Amino acid sequence: MMSAPRTYLDYNATCPLRPEVRAAMLAAMDAVGNPSSVHAEGRRARAIVETAREQVAALVGAKPLEVVFTSGATEANAWVVNAGSWDTIFVCGVEHESVLTPVMESRARAVDVPVDANGVAIVSAIASGVLNGPPVGRALVLLQVANNETGVIQPVADVAHFAREHGLIMHTDAVQAAGRLSLDMDAFGVDTLSLSAHKLGGPKGVGALIIRDGTKLANMISGGGQERRRRGGTENVVGIAGFGAAAQAAATDLVQIERVRCLRDRLEREARALAPATVVIGSAVQRLGNTTCLALVGLSAETLVIKFDLAGLAISAGSACSSGKVGISHVLAAQRLDPALARAAIRISLGWNTSDADVDAFLKVWAEIIHAADSAAVQVPHRSSAERASLARVA
Ligand code: PMP
Repeated sequence: MMSAPRTYLDYNATCPLRPEVRAAMLAAMDAVGNPSSVHAEGRRARAIVETAREQVAALVGAKPLEVVFTSGATEANAWVVNAGSWDTIFVCGVEHESVLTPVMESRARAVDVPVDANGVAIVSAIASGVLNGPPVGRALVLLQVANNETGVIQPVADVAHFAREHGLIMHTDAVQAAGRLSLDMDAFGVDTLSLSAHKLGGPKGVGALIIRDGTKLANMISGGGQERRRRGGTENVVGIAGFGAAAQAAATDLVQIERVRCLRDRLEREARALAPATVVIGSAVQRLGNTTCLALVGLSAETLVIKFDLAGLAISAGSACSSGKVGISHVLAAQRLDPALARAAIRISLGWNTSDADVDAFLKVWAEIIHAADSAAVQVPHRSSAERASLARVA
């Protein structure tokens, strides 16, 4: 049976594999050697790993020796939090769970850095915490480059500048920004930066922590001298080869960024034309060009995700669903978004393989949903607006 074609608009969750990545991984599968072995087979595997290290370093303006391959960004983020013996950690509520959870579990004093209504960190809160609060001791500042739900971009360079001046270590989670913004670790001035291959069109289960030369951080895994003793274990050669190829493709394919932004802008424009009350969350500030977080009060995000899925489209909800209870996304809660909007927020994220036809497919289903919601509301004109909203939700 032929399966119906699908439209994939969930690139911030993960991206389809790029063809050049597949080719690099297939070639690496035939490299039988262990990169630590001295014979020709080992040297071939080593060459694959070192080429990828150069490709990943180039994507973020780092030196190859600063790149440490990990199992992904979750590991890289946890490494920084767990390996520093921090006295104080400054962190924003909009960070990814892979940052927030290790912070919650750590013994450090966690200082919550508030964000404004758009989700942008209030930088002065860090300065005030350092200058007016209790002594920070060995301190870490955590601030992502861009948010995975809204695409909102943070003032990382400003915060890193302050951190440097005051002897704080600064880590940035660049997972969503890599390949979507041009990144330069030096220009940012951060000490460590995390990346994930699968958000670039590479394979899942591989990423990196970029550690600026000279930054002191306990090793991630001892035993085995790999990754200059910082993370022991035989390298994931196939995954690393794919990561390198994805980094190179992303770094050389910058025209994609503008092309994708135009598609995203059209999607937003036409979605709002169909339902003018649609709110684009974060649109007042700088955002990634591939992400849109839309909310129309009265339409529940969970229902929308299911409707789109049944119609052949993959999108995601901004809200989190755990143990059957639908909650509000911690990101939207941190920026104090009206809960009615937060419950309606859906995320549509585009990428290297998104076409005009994908945007058309989204708009077609969006139009049908709006039309159905309008008809449900029109059929009961004597009802209150709250009742009409709840009808719209199930329409
Ligand atoms: N940080 C951000 C901002 C992310 O979006 C993700 C993936 N959803 C991660 C970290 C974790 O990356 P990985 O899947 O490689 O563990």
